[in-house]
Amino acid sequence: MNPVQLKLSDEQRALVGAVRDLSHSKDFRGNSIKYLDGTYPWENLDALAEIGILGMSIPEEYGGSNLPVFDTALVVEEVAKGCYVTAMALMGMLGVQVRVISTYAPESMKRDILPKVAAGKVHLAVCMTEPHAGTDVPNYKTNTVIKDTHAVVNGVKTLISRANEAEWFVVFTRINGSPGRHGIGCVLVNRNYPGFEVTARYHTMGGEYLAEIQFNNVEVPLENVILREGGMKQLMSAFNTQRCLNPSISLGMAEAAFEEAIKYVRERTIRGQAVANFQGIQWKLAEMYRDIEAGRALLYQAALSANPFPDPYQAGVAKMFVNEMAIRVANEALQVHGGYGFTDDYPISRIYRGVRYGTLGGGATEALKDLVGKKLVNDFDPVDGFLSMGNF
Ligand SMILES: Cc1cc2nc3c(=O)[nH]c(=O)nc-3n(C[C@H](O)[C@H](O)[C@H](O)COP(=O)(O)OP(=O)(O)OC[C@H]3O[C@@H](n4cnc5c(N)ncnc54)[C@H](O)[C@@H]3O)c2cc1C
Repeated sequence: MNPVQLKLSDEQRALVGAVRDLSHSKDFRGNSIKYLDGTYPWENLDALAEIGILGMSIPEEYGGSNLPVFDTALVVEEVAKGCYVTAMALMGMLGVQVRVISTYAPESMKRDILPKVAAGKVHLAVCMTEPHAGTDVPNYKTNTVIKDTHAVVNGVKTLISRANEAEWFVVFTRINGSPGRHGIGCVLVNRNYPGFEVTARYHTMGGEYLAEIQFNNVEVPLENVILREGGMKQLMSAFNTQRCLNPSISLGMAEAAFEEAIKYVRERTIRGQAVANFQGIQWKLAEMYRDIEAGRALLYQAALSANPFPDPYQAGVAKMFVNEMAIRVANEALQVHGGYGFTDDYPISRIYRGVRYGTLGGGATEALKDLVGKKLVNDFDPVDGFLSMGNF
């Protein structure tokens, strides 16, 4: 087998370079401190809109540039180096919600919504989690009843990102009370529809707010019901995009943590020499670097599997590894800062808090272990070995 080395194209290098310049700029990083109090990252998103980033996942006929999931992952990684809160909000413009709308919504809604998303004028949210059921998808209670002329949505969703800012909500909902996982489809709800209400807000350790939303007899046109019963398969297929973008945030933050660690240990001295000179510190750096590179390889492979959405198992394995790796790396990076790392004056404390998100959202680690473990028990062939998983 010939060794394959991943090389970015000239266009990808230019794209990553432009986003890196922005995310390393003084304003962008300065804003990341302001956003810790829950302020929505409008300025940073506007700056990303100006260089065409918000339309990356949107087909050209609706004002976007329709780039593959891999390019999107590269961009999210760069943004996360500068600001976790912005990267999370950006995921809302590039991730599952926009993929669901551009794949399954009727033409009229695509024409109405997508160009505004690409221009940064309309923001999107996805509503899956319910107060009693997050990973427990078969027990979602939100229900949409289809009538002759319209549909009616009732239910409660919680821990929703961008609930105060988004105009359109991609709502995972039971259709006509159909039970179990199969009974779930998808409805688009506008925040201005009567009966839509944000009923609680939670400030997070990462900085952003999450919120609870109630749908009380919300009437929607029939065309807003974009997937009926049995739609969960299509929804999860699109959701695999999120399983790559979420760890892209973790990867970017692990790299940012590493950069901060290197800077600090080169400058800080103990007994007249740089902390970087101690073998114990160099071993930490070597291990952090090794883990980041291993995570990058897994994640890029998963993102490159997209056709149009990433392979669920490759994305699941990458997400499990990269999320946990980034938490370890951020922890070690904070450790080499000594006590200053625990203060708000160094970026590492902000990185350490944000990076904790990864294993929780976008498919919790334990749920992904279930998914991958079942696949291995059923499909791994000890004779063909790792080739039997079809990753190569
Ligand atoms: C920053 C952030 C942003 C978010 N944004 C959104 C959003 O925009 N939209 C949205 O819908 N949701 C969002 N969420 C919610 C997130 O998707 C859920 O928190 C997640 O799905 C887990 O659900 P839960 O919190 O109800 O935990 P539970 O499902 O109650 O899980 C509790 C624990 O049990 C574990 N567990 C689950 N299954 C198994 C198993 N089979 N074996 C062993 N352990 C298991 C879980 O991993 C977890 O550790 C966000 C969460 C965070 C932290």
